[in-house]
Amino acid sequence: MKTFCGRANPTTGSMEWLEEGEDYDYHQEIARSRYADMLHDKDRNVKYYQGIRAAVSRVKERGEKAIVLDIGTGTGLLSMMAASAGADFCYAIEVFKPMANAAVKIVEKNGFSDKIKVINKHSTEVTVGPDGDMQCRANILVTELFDTELIGEGALPTYEHAHKYLVQEGCEAVPHRATVYVQLVESRRMWSWKKLFPVHVEAEDGEKILVPPSEMENCPGLASVCDIQLNQMPSSDFSTLSDVVKMFSVDFSKPVQSASTCYRVQLEPVKSGKAQIVLSWWDIDMDPSGMINCSMAPYWVKPTSALQWRDHWMQCVYFLPHEEPVLQGEKLYLTACRDEYSVWYNLQKARAEEEEHKADVCVESPVCRCRAHLLWNRPRFGALNDQSRTRQYIESLRKVLKTDSVCLCISDGSLLPVLAHYLGAKQVQHAGSGCMQPSRIDLYHPHELWQAFFKANNLEDKIKIIEARPELLKPSHLEDKKISVLVGEPFFTTSLLPWHNLYFWYARTAVSSHLASNVTVLPQSASLHMMIVQFQDLWRIRSPCGICEGFDVRTMDDMIKDSLNFRESKEAEPHPLWEYPCKSLSEPQEVLTFDFTKTVPQHCLSTEGSVKLVRKGKSHGAVLWMEYHLTADISVSTGLMQLSNEKGNCEWNPHCKQAVYFFSSVIESEILSDPTAVTYDIKFDTKTGEIAMDFKL
Ligand code: SAH
Repeated sequence: MKTFCGRANPTTGSMEWLEEGEDYDYHQEIARSRYADMLHDKDRNVKYYQGIRAAVSRVKERGEKAIVLDIGTGTGLLSMMAASAGADFCYAIEVFKPMANAAVKIVEKNGFSDKIKVINKHSTEVTVGPDGDMQCRANILVTELFDTELIGEGALPTYEHAHKYLVQEGCEAVPHRATVYVQLVESRRMWSWKKLFPVHVEAEDGEKILVPPSEMENCPGLASVCDIQLNQMPSSDFSTLSDVVKMFSVDFSKPVQSASTCYRVQLEPVKSGKAQIVLSWWDIDMDPSGMINCSMAPYWVKPTSALQWRDHWMQCVYFLPHEEPVLQGEKLYLTACRDEYSVWYNLQKARAEEEEHKADVCVESPVCRCRAHLLWNRPRFGALNDQSRTRQYIESLRKVLKTDSVCLCISDGSLLPVLAHYLGAKQVQHAGSGCMQPSRIDLYHPHELWQAFFKANNLEDKIKIIEARPELLKPSHLEDKKISVLVGEPFFTTSLLPWHNLYFWYARTAVSSHLASNVTVLPQSASLHMMIVQFQDLWRIRSPCGICEGFDVRTMDDMIKDSLNFRESKEAEPHPLWEYPCKSLSEPQEVLTFDFTKTVPQHCLSTEGSVKLVRKGKSHGAVLWMEYHLTADISVSTGLMQLSNEKGNCEWNPHCKQAVYFFSSVIESEILSDPTAVTYDIKFDTKTGEIAMDFKL
C-alpha cells in the first residue's frame, strides 16, 4: 500500500504530494512520537504505579478479582504495573498497530503474556462477552489519554464509552480524577501572539502609525490550544491578576459526559490590570484520597524541586476574546466552555442580578473572522510585534530605498511593503509602487485581509498585491517597470526548517528577468550557522529508556531508533529553543553562505570541517539556524541572539524554530569519552532545497 504525504517543496514554496511506502507514515509517527518522553517521565510513572497498586489492593480487599482495562496501552507499561501489583487479568487496548505489536513483544519479554491480553483496536470497537475481546467488564480502569489541554486526545468520549460498555459500575479508576486550574494574567509578550500592535515608523515626513483594521481588533482568534513550556517564561514577562483557581474536575470512576458544556467560577483580581490571558494546567489524582498527585503546575505555583521536565504535557495559554481592564477586588466571572476536544475561555464582569445564575448560554468556540489568525500563526504575530526586529528592517529599508525605487516584496504576510511605502513612497507619487505577493497557497483568500488593512491605514492603491507565483510574474504586473529593490524577510508559512525560507532565493532567481541591472536585494545574503550543544532536557525525547520502573522497554527503544534511521540519513528537526534550554559546547560557527545578489547555482553547496569543543559537557546534538544580512551592516538572526560566555547559556530568537540534529550518541546512548571536536559534513542540495548533514564525534 502507498500513502501520500504532503510536503512543501522549498524550491517552489508550494505543497507537493509525494508517494511514500506504507512504512513511511508509521516511521514518522514513531520517530517523532512522545513515547520516549513519557517513558522518561519518572514522576508520572512512579505515581501511576502507586495509584495502580492502591487500586488493585482496594479491589482485593473487597474480595474481588482485579480485572484491569488499560485503554491506550502504548508499550504496555501500565498493564505490566497492574499485573505486577497483583491484578488477575489485564485487557490492554491499543489502536495504533505498530504500538500494539510492540506491546505484545514487551509484555512477553517481561513475562506477563498469561496476564495481559493486548487488543489492537480502538476502545470503542472492543466487545465484551464469552466470545468477545473481553470475557467480562473490568473493575479497574487505567488510562493515560491526556494531552496538555487534558481532553484534546479524546479522553472524554473514550471514558464515556468505557463506562457504558466496558467497565463495571463503581469501578476503580487510575487516575481517579483530573482538575483543571486557571490563573488570569496580563502579559504583553503573550498577548502579542494574538493581536497585532500598532507599528510606529519614523518616516521623512513625520511618524506614521500602522494600525490593524477593526475586524482584527475584535476577532476572537483561533480555537486551537497554544501549548508551551510555561516554565521557560520568566516572571518578568507576565503579571498575575488572580490567584490560581480550580476551573473544573472530571471524576473518571463515574460515568463521564463528553457533550459540550460550560463551567463558571467567580474571581476577584488580586491586582488591577488588563486581563488578556488565561494560563491553565491540570493535575491528576491517582487515588480518591488525592494523596498521589501528579501536577503540571508551573514554577511559581509549586516548589522547583517538585518540577519534572516533560514535553508530552505542558501548560496552556488561552487568549481572552478581548482585553478587559479589571480592578483589584471587583467581582468577575470566568467561564470555561468545552466541546469534546477543546476548551476556551470568556471573562464577564459580574452584575448584581446575574450573581445567582449560572452561565447557561455556552459561548461558541472562537472562529477567526479577520483572517489574520489564519495568515499568521502565534509565533508570527510575535515576530511582527517585535519592535526591535521591526526597527532593523526599517533601518535597512531606509538605507536601500530611493525616491524612485520600484520595490517588490516576496514573503508571506509581510508588513515590509507597508514599511517600504512609508519610507519612500511620499517622494515617488507615481513611480514607486510597492508590490507584494502575500501567499502562494490558496487555502483562503488573504486579499480581503489586506484590503481591510490598507483601508484602515489609508493605503488603498498605494500597494499592489500581485497574485502570481514568481515564475509567472509578467512585466504588466509591474507596469512594465524593472524592480530596483527586491525585499523579503524572508518568511514563508510552508517552511518547516530554517533553511526552507531560502525559497526567497529561488523566487529571486525566478524573477531575475524583471530585476534592474543595479537591483538591490534585501536581504543581500544569508548564512547558515551551527553550534554544538548540551540540552538541559530536550535530549530525553530522543533518548532510549532501557528499564522503566523495573520493566524492560528496550523493544520500544529499538523501534524508535529504527524509525529515526529509517531514511538512513537522519534528519534535523525543528524545535523552538527558547522553550528548551541548552548550553553551548562550541562557539557558534558560520558553515554556509547564500548570496542573494546572484541566482541559485546549479551545483550543490557543501562544506566540511571540524568544530572545537570549548566547554565540558555531553554533546547531545547540533543546533542550526539562519541569519539574514539585510544590508552590509544589519543582520537578523533567526537562531542565537546571545551567548553568555562563562556558562555557555544561550538565548534564542523567541519567534522562530531552530533546527536540531540529535547525535547518534543520544539515540543509542553510547558512552563517549569527552570528545574535543566534532567534524561535520553539510550539503545544501540546490535541486531540492534541502540540507543533508552528518556529524562525527
Ligand atoms: N499507556 C501508555 C501509553 C500512553 S499514550 C503509557 O502510559 O506509557 C496513549 C496511547 O493510547 C497511544 O498509543 C494511542 O495510540 C492510544 N489510544 C488513544 N486513544 C485510544 C482509544 N480510544 N483506544 C485505543 N487506543 C487509544
